[in-house]
Amino acid sequence: MAVRTATPKAPKVPEIRKGDTVVVLSGKDAGKRGTVERVIRQAAAPRGGRSIFRRGSSAGGVKVVIEGVNIAKRHTKPRQSSSATDRMPKIQQGGILDLAQPLPISKVMLVCTSCGKPTRVAHATLETGRRVRVCRHCGEQVEVKS
Ligand SMILES: [Zn+2]
Repeated sequence: MAVRTATPKAPKVPEIRKGDTVVVLSGKDAGKRGTVERVIRQAAAPRGGRSIFRRGSSAGGVKVVIEGVNIAKRHTKPRQSSSATDRMPKIQQGGILDLAQPLPISKVMLVCTSCGKPTRVAHATLETGRRVRVCRHCGEQVEVKS
């Protein structure tokens, strides 16, 4: 299928999505691979500004939760989680939980589904107008099977 390469200043197609396989670049889990469970988008801190958030946090940080990576043990009591999503209120059981902690998106790299290498992402537009992500190594589309 013909794929046109996108202009460098491409619109925002997220580089990493839920269901992607990624490799961790740094930290205690460097080198580990896992599946993205969740992508967390945080509001960008106002530029040059009085941010109410702690300093040094990366602007507009996007974080990802990766299955089995960056695990923190949490000791919990049974409770109803208030942070649960509407459609899935979850009741937490007491005990020790292995919780995957979010990692900044800059610390992970997408793994190509075709060639299996960690890759930076190029963007392309299909003839249908659909925007897709493309592996810079092999040129194949990197798509989440869903
Ligand atoms: Zn590839």
